[in-house]
Amino acid sequence: MVRRFIIIKGIVQGVGFRPFIYKIALDNNLYGNVYNTSKGVYVDVEGKEENIKNFICDIKYKAPVLSYIESIYVEDKKFIGYKEFKIINSKHEEGLTLISPDIGICDDCIEDIKNNLKNRRYRYPFTNCTNCGPRFSIIKGLPYDREFTTMKEFDMCNHCKEEYENPLDRRFHAEPTCCRECGPSIFLLDKHGKRIKCDDVIAKVKEYILKGNIIAVKGIGGYNIICNAKNKESIEILRKRKIRKTKPLAVMFRDDNVASKYCNLNEIELSILKSNKKPIVLLEKKNKLLPDNISFDSPCIGALLPYSPLHYLLFDNEIDSIIFTSGNISETPMIYKDKESLSKLNNIVDYYLIHNREINMPVDDSVIKVIDFKERVIRNGRGYAPLSIKKESKDEILALGAELKNTISISSRGYIFLSPYLGNMDNVGGISNLNKNIDHIKKIYDIKPKIICYDMHPNYWSNEYIKGLNLKKIGIYHHHAHIVSCMGENNIKDNVIGIAYDGAGFGEDKTIWGGEFLICNYKEFKRVSHISTFKLPGGDKATENPWRVGVSLIYKALGYEKSLVDKTSNIILKDKKDINLILAMIDKNINSPICSSIGRLFDGVSSFLGFTMKRSYEGEASIYLENLAYKFLKDNNSYKDFYRYEIIQNDEMLEIDYKKIIIGILEDIYNKKSKYEIAFKFHNTVIEFSITVAIKLREIYKINKIALSGGVFQNEILLSGISNRLKGYGFEVITHKIIPCNDSGISYGQLLIGNEKI
Ligand code: ZN
Ligand code: ZN
Ligand code: FE
Repeated sequence: MVRRFIIIKGIVQGVGFRPFIYKIALDNNLYGNVYNTSKGVYVDVEGKEENIKNFICDIKYKAPVLSYIESIYVEDKKFIGYKEFKIINSKHEEGLTLISPDIGICDDCIEDIKNNLKNRRYRYPFTNCTNCGPRFSIIKGLPYDREFTTMKEFDMCNHCKEEYENPLDRRFHAEPTCCRECGPSIFLLDKHGKRIKCDDVIAKVKEYILKGNIIAVKGIGGYNIICNAKNKESIEILRKRKIRKTKPLAVMFRDDNVASKYCNLNEIELSILKSNKKPIVLLEKKNKLLPDNISFDSPCIGALLPYSPLHYLLFDNEIDSIIFTSGNISETPMIYKDKESLSKLNNIVDYYLIHNREINMPVDDSVIKVIDFKERVIRNGRGYAPLSIKKESKDEILALGAELKNTISISSRGYIFLSPYLGNMDNVGGISNLNKNIDHIKKIYDIKPKIICYDMHPNYWSNEYIKGLNLKKIGIYHHHAHIVSCMGENNIKDNVIGIAYDGAGFGEDKTIWGGEFLICNYKEFKRVSHISTFKLPGGDKATENPWRVGVSLIYKALGYEKSLVDKTSNIILKDKKDINLILAMIDKNINSPICSSIGRLFDGVSSFLGFTMKRSYEGEASIYLENLAYKFLKDNNSYKDFYRYEIIQNDEMLEIDYKKIIIGILEDIYNKKSKYEIAFKFHNTVIEFSITVAIKLREIYKINKIALSGGVFQNEILLSGISNRLKGYGFEVITHKIIPCNDSGISYGQLLIGNEKI
């Protein structure tokens, strides 16, 4: 007989790990004990050497689905003769264990609530077990015990307690476990916050949905707003009230069969949709059976399945598709507090379906797009965040990210913790969301950062933010952070050619960059190529009104002359007076910052092809262009045509001159080519010049690795086109998967760079 002491690290708490250990200890005839510490799970076992070996094998290969083992440490100990195997309550110790994201309802729990009237949890909206349920959103501290979650308020009834204490039960130490008798409950309120008394809240809500009402639902990580996805008028009203003109709305489907009635799904998309992370997956529309005002001309629908029992209960034979959008006001963060929802959403919704379990940390729904058969995280929220990435850093570092779609990253003891998507930093809610996440991660993991990384943009919020802080400050250029975020995700350390295509980032020469080629590693970068610059008449106003950029591109391509106003207004259908004004601004250099942004180039071209309104959300004009191109691509798979362009070499800089591209597009418009073809031909052109420049850079710098980053790579045609063509030329291409390519990935890149620069 021997004794071994075993430490298991990784995601091993709140995932059914101790009962698993208990079971396999019994299976292998071992005595001793198991307990949680904040460093990991500790196991003390005695038995035959052979059996202990087997036991360790079982730990490795039979671990619970939600767990993730990073290391198993084994030590010899003096035999003391345990008489049984026990699970011991948590010990509080210094160290580190990882928080699990929130997990969507599992099949066993669905069985519990679905059919069996005798089940204690029949139709109970807070049913969960060790394999599913809320985690991150309810955890206030570690170790992961009920007393450190928002479930602390609810005393378990005897039935629940029995399950909780029975190592062989699915709910053994399921910290949020509860039932109708002892757990949280749901309530129905009218829009003024007045309680509506009724016997069956869910039945009432369904009645409202069918009647066409709009309802705020308190979910796992915050409030959502829902209505019947088959009721065009309801959707119209929702859009009006939420002031959400055109931005696509997500749809929650009853199950994957319903989803596949309206959307095309490949195997990977299906498995992600059904996974326990339950994200929004951008799927291709199959038909026009759902109202067109869900996502208008977009070829996609953002689809998701019910992820909490409460959502699950809203569906039946009559209701199989529900509009499911974040409960927020325009671009501010999702609301998660009851009071705030009552004061802010009351102009949008008719009713509230709320509950009395507090949400401690807000977390938005995640958004995923599958491109080239790989899962790409566009928004890292529920199910995906927080992300704990094993990576050594020299010190405890906090990276503040960028301005829009922000996240923060913090490093400590061999990990980088990436926060969930925090939203935009241009509003009070965004900043308070950010502070809450920083404080939470610092407190939970006991981190005291000494170094802070921030974006070099002088007008970003972070510049103010860092002013009073007594920390070492490291400013990092936006596009360097983009490329390094992609390198870090792919564990690439040598120099790469980085293609950073996005909307805007502050560059070394104090202009706005966004169509950049960098040679870089974690520590430094050199800008080696970019698209020609153009002016943004009115600065931010040009970003909001893509047609202004269109005017600027025509000005750049044709030069200033008298007939330009007429020519321009033939292409961009705007008042001549307006166009004249913008041309004058550009020509006289009035409030017209310079940029080299691909995102803006896309915006400008979209205005030639009909996008002449003010955009209503970030990226709208570029998405418009992508959608046009996508339609053409569907029927013209082998179309290879592209516009001419020039590459000009100034010293060591390659400049991609697009004047001929613009002229080519204007000619095609004049010749009445379809906007779909022009949009696709333009995409082809961007792919074409990207490849040409990459090949030239490979010759000059002898680098074959190439990283693609920046929000523009959410564009499927570009990402797929550029990466596959590059691979065809023998490049080793690295792309984003789990870290978003958009600005949600910036903080991660900043942290890696900061660590190298210390
Ligand atoms: Zn479950
Ligand atoms: Zn109970
Ligand atoms: Fe960016």
